[in-house]
Amino acid sequence: MADNEEKSLTAESSSTSAKPSVAGENREPITEKKKCGDVEEVSVATELNRLSIKEEEKRDSVLHEPEDSNIEAVISGDTVYTSASRFEDLNLSPELIKGLYVEMRFEKPSKIQAITLPMIMTPPYKHLIAQSHNGSGKTTCFVLGMLSRVDPTLSKTQALCICPTRELANQNMEVLQKMGKFTGITAQVFVPTGVPVAKQAPVSPHVAVGTPGTLKKWMTYEKLDLSHLKILVFDEADHMLATDGFKDDSLKIMKDIEYQKKKKNLDTSFQVLLFSATFNETVRKFVEKIVKGDPNKLFVERKALTLDSVKQYKVVCPEEQNKIEVIKDQIMELGDIGQTIIFVETKVSADKLHKALAEMGYDVTSIHGSMTVADRDTVVKEFKANLTQVLIATDVIARGFDQKQVNLVVNYNLPCTYNTEEPNYEVYLHRVGRAGRFGGKGAVFNLLLDDGWDKEAMEKIEKYFGANVKEITTWNSEEEYKGALKEAGILG
Ligand code: AMP
Repeated sequence: MADNEEKSLTAESSSTSAKPSVAGENREPITEKKKCGDVEEVSVATELNRLSIKEEEKRDSVLHEPEDSNIEAVISGDTVYTSASRFEDLNLSPELIKGLYVEMRFEKPSKIQAITLPMIMTPPYKHLIAQSHNGSGKTTCFVLGMLSRVDPTLSKTQALCICPTRELANQNMEVLQKMGKFTGITAQVFVPTGVPVAKQAPVSPHVAVGTPGTLKKWMTYEKLDLSHLKILVFDEADHMLATDGFKDDSLKIMKDIEYQKKKKNLDTSFQVLLFSATFNETVRKFVEKIVKGDPNKLFVERKALTLDSVKQYKVVCPEEQNKIEVIKDQIMELGDIGQTIIFVETKVSADKLHKALAEMGYDVTSIHGSMTVADRDTVVKEFKANLTQVLIATDVIARGFDQKQVNLVVNYNLPCTYNTEEPNYEVYLHRVGRAGRFGGKGAVFNLLLDDGWDKEAMEKIEKYFGANVKEITTWNSEEEYKGALKEAGILG
């Protein structure tokens, strides 16, 4: 059960494992001065273009940020939050600051981090529903949020992060381990391993990260006690709470946590953070209903969600076979354009495309939900280590998968909403977001068949996001593809 071995984040001597500064557990609203231990803080504040959300701006206000879109912020209650332009503004422990600079090599908070981190870390620890662009640094918001709220001297599980896939759970765990390396905080990942949960010994890592089914089992068998939980994170929250996603499991886990707390006569409250790049209307309404207690909210206008740094193209191919030719002639033969992910709708298509390209002598890997967990892990590891360049994937890695070297995304099939004729807008956006991580450049090729649905679906997607998807007019024109990749900035 390699995956489930308790992993200590401590790499250096435990003398550095001081309690992370949790900004106290008092329930006072925090002001600028109180929040920032640094005396200099208040005087430099104005110079630093900081974002202070004042009382009169609290309801339905739109925050204007220099570099990109509007974020609609709805701040609940009286707490005054001051955006953090430096990590030092956040009253973090020296161990966490060291993790951010030395291990993560971050220089300053991204926009979403600057806004949400004070909201997460300031008592009275309000719930937060936060939408932000793909690749904008969401993981750090909730990982740092969890690490900053854990008391490492208390050997209880105090933070839980629930993710839709094992890949995302593993990825978040890696970030957590790196960022928390100097803190003494322990963490464990809970994903399927093949070993029956009933046979496992009870565990109590400070932080648990996992997929909903496995987490539910650990709780049911009383192997994971969450009665001391302070903070619960839903990564890809819209999917975690969607009817066609993990809604039932997620709600059950929330209920079980409350039950465990009640059983031990402990305070039943805990902070809930919900992060995603997408929240459609239905999910948004539902999410707002389930997190009681007037949460803080951040939403991005739909039309501002597509990444300007990622150029989108469409090409109509007369036959299915032509799509394979496009991949072979216009992508595989190009040479150094970084890594590519080719998204397909089904595992059958993944296998078919893989076979076709392998038979032509190309070195590709693929990933889908019917592979063994060991194979899935190997494929991801190799791709992340840059050992493979082209990955064929179903939507199992459409969300959250973070690999900076991915410059090109190919939609071999457009995503379709299960059992309907509708394109899946959220999945489209998430797929696009696999390229252009953290403001990097990228391109998307949408390969469409000339048969009706593809072209209609593309049109609907363009309309939905107000996106500018340029057409490559001749499906086999090398010049046009090269021109597109040059325009996108990924071909010299
Ligand atoms: P995320 O949206 O959390 O998946 O992050 C996207 C990418 O941005 C990841 O590769 C992060 O390591 C990187 N990143 C996140 N926050 C920062 C930051 N403050 N400075 C530099 N890179 C960052």
